[in-house]
Amino acid sequence: MEAYSLTAADMRDSILRHLAYELGTDPGHATLHDWRIALSLAVRDRLVDRWFAANRATRAAQPKRVYYLSMEFLIGRLLEDAIVNLRLEEQAGTALADLGLDFDAVIQNEPDAALGNGGLGRLAACFMESLATIGCPAFGYGIRYENGLFRQSFQDGRQIEEPEDWLSQFHAWEFERRDVAQEIRFGGEVTQKDGRAVWTGAEAVIAAAFDTPIIGWKGRWANTLRLWSAQPLHGFDLARFNRGEYAAAAEPEALARTISRVLYPDDTTGQGKELRLKQEYFFTAASLRDILRRFEAEGGALADLPKKAAIQLNDTHPAIAGPELVRLLHDERGMALDEAIATARGCLSYTNHTLMPEALERWSEDLMSQLLPRHMQLIERIDEAHAAEMPGRRVTLRENGEVKMGEIAFTMAHKVNGVSALHTDLMKETVFADLHRLHPDRIVNETNGVTPRRWLLSANPRLSRLITETIGEGWVDDLEQLDRLEASISDPGFLDAYAKAKRENKQDFAEWLAAEQGVRVDPEALFDVQIKRIHEYKRQHLNILETVALWREIKANPGAGWVPRVKIFAGKAAPGYVFAKEIIHLINDVAEVLNADPVTSPYLKVLFLPNYNVSLAERLIPAADLSEQISTAGKEASGTGNMKFALNGAPTIGTLDGANVEIRDRVGARNFFLFGMTAQEVEARRAVPDHARQAIQADPRLGGALKAISQGAFSPSDKHRYRGVVANLTGQDYFLVCSDFTAYWDAQRRAEAAFADPAVWHRGAACNTARAGWFSSDRTIRGYMTDIWGTVPLAAE
Ligand SMILES: *Cc1c(COP(=O)(O)O)cnc(C)c1O
Repeated sequence: MEAYSLTAADMRDSILRHLAYELGTDPGHATLHDWRIALSLAVRDRLVDRWFAANRATRAAQPKRVYYLSMEFLIGRLLEDAIVNLRLEEQAGTALADLGLDFDAVIQNEPDAALGNGGLGRLAACFMESLATIGCPAFGYGIRYENGLFRQSFQDGRQIEEPEDWLSQFHAWEFERRDVAQEIRFGGEVTQKDGRAVWTGAEAVIAAAFDTPIIGWKGRWANTLRLWSAQPLHGFDLARFNRGEYAAAAEPEALARTISRVLYPDDTTGQGKELRLKQEYFFTAASLRDILRRFEAEGGALADLPKKAAIQLNDTHPAIAGPELVRLLHDERGMALDEAIATARGCLSYTNHTLMPEALERWSEDLMSQLLPRHMQLIERIDEAHAAEMPGRRVTLRENGEVKMGEIAFTMAHKVNGVSALHTDLMKETVFADLHRLHPDRIVNETNGVTPRRWLLSANPRLSRLITETIGEGWVDDLEQLDRLEASISDPGFLDAYAKAKRENKQDFAEWLAAEQGVRVDPEALFDVQIKRIHEYKRQHLNILETVALWREIKANPGAGWVPRVKIFAGKAAPGYVFAKEIIHLINDVAEVLNADPVTSPYLKVLFLPNYNVSLAERLIPAADLSEQISTAGKEASGTGNMKFALNGAPTIGTLDGANVEIRDRVGARNFFLFGMTAQEVEARRAVPDHARQAIQADPRLGGALKAISQGAFSPSDKHRYRGVVANLTGQDYFLVCSDFTAYWDAQRRAEAAFADPAVWHRGAACNTARAGWFSSDRTIRGYMTDIWGTVPLAAE
């Protein structure tokens, strides 16, 4: 393969050539940004060659392709990914060194592509990489948001949101496809012509395609991530401009562009809701048209579409794909309605990501009728067809004037999957109990995974080197080979090397903290890490309550031999989620008091790192000792952060929730600090009146911590700042923070005792690495391929 024959000198020449002829800059004047772009283009050249080879192989074989529709792709930086997967680290490193540049500095100059909120979008990104590694012909389809997830900072402890303008710099990884564009319409009316429904949308925008190649391990295969950008049908209005109406002239363009302007606009307002539904239809409709165009170009009979296209809906955001595909087949291509429904179902499958009914999307029928009048009619027809299929056992797709997108996705999919064993079981019993009874073979489980190339090989080079020295390199695309480390776990030499890698990672992180955040921490302390979106069900407030209780205990008895600990938090709160923002404020307030306490701060520090994103996760996870996965049991569908930590040798302190259950089964109960109620116990406990008050009375540590917060110990200038938080916890406490507190406290003490004995600790950590190989997204994708898609890998020449 060509990438291998590339020398460092070739690489250097290529960088210099791009610097001169692409950027018009000579080396004497180049900034870090210029060098980074020049390197990206040099690497991209290699990548494009592999991409073409994969595309040629696909065109020749005309195989069934996978289409992954996702509103979010949280891809992060791409340069290092490409370098690692093309195995160009040495060449790139040497070339940059020759040019007097620091490899890491160049890599870190790249902005994070944050086209997602959290786990769901990151899963889509891991899947894209695994599909390419496996050689499964696939397209990812989504939206090219101009502004991704907001940039977070803190002002007086409060979250501040600013737009993230990742596209303000030249983006080396995408290619605009001017020849691929779809016209997408909204609104208007439905008329009948020759017995057929004809929808004439009133408003139109253009969906313009931007392609990013996604390269797999060793460059063996590459797929395309196609993101749609909304553009106006007509440019700006010259007549109005000439009349001096400058703002009005630009208005149609601005309106069209709003559709791909921002990720998840605030949907607490009516207008926000309308925009969100438009975004969903926009990218789904553009993608389906693209899929049909490709299918028709290959000359297949429409009824064979399910043999050529596996369309996966990542959550309900693209659920309108059901009615839209029926419309494309029935209204526009004349297929009988029943056949159109069956054909669409043969192609579609749906991944559910939540059990919380309030998180399953519903749209008002009024809004849907106004924006998508034909789809509203088809939803009724699909509902009737479903009722006819299942007489007497009607599950409706509409309720109380709302359209239920979860039910539509389920009804229009041939397979529906949960994302961990527990979640899939609960799905059958709760949200989709009725539909599961009607279609007992439809629900399957595909436990999530993460790509080992990004989350171990490139994020943690020290540990990766040790693993490769011990068991060879095969683990990188066959992660279950990590079980071969098992034999080394009892070897003191191996454990020493394992401990050394972790220690050096922690030192690096401490240095970065000092340089970037101006905070000093002791690298010998226990790094206790909770990084994820801020949400009540994820219970960052349980963690901070335990922190306050621990602080009070240390203060009362400073000489009791405490294990030094640094509690590290990071995560963003949705701009409209008031309670989550109060939790952030509280953690920052607690940090300020604790870090300034001369008695306790040698043993306990609290950090809230701003702007959690993929790059911060890559930096922090290899340095973590303890992984906080403490959601209320039954609420976290799977989690993927939990898997990244386990792989990198940070044991979990956690509940029996989501994939934690499967992680514990694999790494062993001894190497997992379990606490808390099970999903069933949670339901029973919630039925106990006054459960929070009882828990508080039973544990003075909890009572003391709550009292300190409510009396303003952390907000002296505004003593009642946390009245709402305390009232929530002492009142309804829906997420059972108080009821799980004591068990959590005890589990923390067990973790501490284990940490105090390095031999015990490193053994447990190494068991996590050695036994977490199953959590590769390669394994997950193979599961989808056999259980859901019916696709096989191809090889490029
Ligand atoms: C992995 C990841 C997540 C998901 O974390 P969970 O702990 O599973 O919620 C969210 N955001 C980023 C940036 C990630 O890398």
